[in-house]
Amino acid sequence: MRVSTGIQGELDLINQIFNDETTSEERVLEAAASLYKSGEKNIYARLLHVMCHLRLAPAEAKKTWEAIISHRDSLEGKLGRPMGFRVAMLDYFINESRELKNPKVIEIHVYAETARQAAVDELTGVYNRRFFDSAIEREIKQAARRNRNLSLLILDIDNFKKINDTHGHTTGDAVISALGKLLKKQIRSEDTPCRIGGEEFAVLLPETGVEGAEIVAEKIRHEFSKLKIASTDLSLSGGLATFSSDATNAKDLIDRADQMLYFAKYSGKNRVISYASNKRRHIRYPLEWELAITKTSGTAGKSRSQDVSIEGISFELDETTEPGELMSLHLNINSEPLELPVQIVWVDNNAKERRFRAGARFIRLTEEHLSSLKKRLPASANRNN
Ligand code: GH3
Ligand code: MG
Ligand code: MG
Repeated sequence: MRVSTGIQGELDLINQIFNDETTSEERVLEAAASLYKSGEKNIYARLLHVMCHLRLAPAEAKKTWEAIISHRDSLEGKLGRPMGFRVAMLDYFINESRELKNPKVIEIHVYAETARQAAVDELTGVYNRRFFDSAIEREIKQAARRNRNLSLLILDIDNFKKINDTHGHTTGDAVISALGKLLKKQIRSEDTPCRIGGEEFAVLLPETGVEGAEIVAEKIRHEFSKLKIASTDLSLSGGLATFSSDATNAKDLIDRADQMLYFAKYSGKNRVISYASNKRRHIRYPLEWELAITKTSGTAGKSRSQDVSIEGISFELDETTEPGELMSLHLNINSEPLELPVQIVWVDNNAKERRFRAGARFIRLTEEHLSSLKKRLPASANRNN
């Protein structure tokens, strides 16, 4: 069996164990035991490697660890006073096992501080990108094991370039740093705030489902907009996705939260959009509507829809089109005419059969458009909006 000994793995381990700034040995022992119980069978091998550069297989490491503890207990009995774990460890290797020629046991505080520095972003005091990458994997594993939710919120400051350009980088930095502080203040101690890019942040929210995460996100967005820094208008956009209802691995979870961030920017900024609410809105109804199409070039044609949602429509075409093209769809259902401006999003060409399919999103919809559209969709489309 391979023992994980990479430097990043060691830093993760130390961060996991020393995550509350206490560095007492008793806490290390407890944390190690509970990690072992929760399935981290390599924990003792990794600890022995971190603490005294000894490489052992997991089973042997566990035996050694237990032998050190019982050595400590026996020394404490003989001396009649408590003894530190590392002192017992050193004594064990010198006088009992002789596995190490020149035993070296590290100073836990020094290691913990080094590890902390390597994981924390200097400007903001929240975790950095590298820590985020390993933390999300770890949190997902834990959520899966315990059958719990885990939400990921990705935030990006709106129009940040303009803040830099108008007020200078120092003010820009102050805004980024203020957001870091705000995150730490607004979230629970079990949540993990990270700076994953210049003015982009991520927050991991364990044991938090969609609704809970939406509330946290709104609170952060609202509080950020109230900050007064160099009299700039501040706002945030965000994307939210939840394990395991929206994604079952780290990559998909990040992709989906990212997609929603993009969507939030695209639909006007200063908002957080969750994958779940977007999925709800995107329910597609298999409705076959007769359509008349007019293109901006003036050409016209007839078509039939395949499915319709509150935000878009897919339909068949006699000739191909291209993503980005604008056209108008005319509906004539129940003799109430409705003209919907759309923009093509995707095209599926089956040249052999000379049949083309396209998907389009509705654009420039007025309230009137929207209510007329909703009337034509099944009742559930209206309930969810
Ligand atoms: P959007 O609303 O679409 O997010 O627009 P934006 O202006 O925020 O655009 P974008 O995300 O592309 O630009 C981010 C800018 O942030 C680019 C970069 O010059 C600046 N930036 C990145 N890191 C830092 C930093 O540490 N300090 C400062 N002051 N600026 C930074
Ligand atoms: Mg950005
Ligand atoms: Mg930005």
